[in-house]
Amino acid sequence: MVERQCRYCERSFQASKYQPGQSVCSESDCQRGRRADYHRQKVAADPEYRQVCLDSPQKSRSHNPDYWRRYRAQHPAAVERNRQRQHVRDQKRRLRDLANNNSAFDLKHSAAEIWLLGAGLQNLANNNSAPAQVWILEPLPPRKPPQSESCKQQRPGNEADSAG
Ligand SMILES: [Zn+2]
Repeated sequence: MVERQCRYCERSFQASKYQPGQSVCSESDCQRGRRADYHRQKVAADPEYRQVCLDSPQKSRSHNPDYWRRYRAQHPAAVERNRQRQHVRDQKRRLRDLANNNSAFDLKHSAAEIWLLGAGLQNLANNNSAPAQVWILEPLPPRKPPQSESCKQQRPGNEADSAG
């Protein structure tokens, strides 16, 4: 075991026997600093590494989860926009699954135009977050005629019956 001084926190630590050249202690802040410095140097020196990082936002995200947590906290609108886009992607995937589903082999392409009627549907039609091309609408239950109206119409007949 070799006693060393951490180049970040400057405290002394025991170097791992597996990494005799270790110059950073195992504290998470120091390790984070070491990784960030390594990343910076590597990006500056290695064009291939730089390209991989550009190509893979997922990788750099996993290197720096705090950044994205802060980003989400500071940009609620962007988070909401992302959530809606994900929702649209989910919807498209469901429709694609439906189309690929063998049990629905008689589904055909339809060029029909669909009109949305009714006050409640206006929000649906104006909703920018749902630029879907297919709408699946459940029919509303048939509206019953107002009860009082039909009673009035039947009353004269009933009175005639009882009078006669
Ligand atoms: Zn340290």
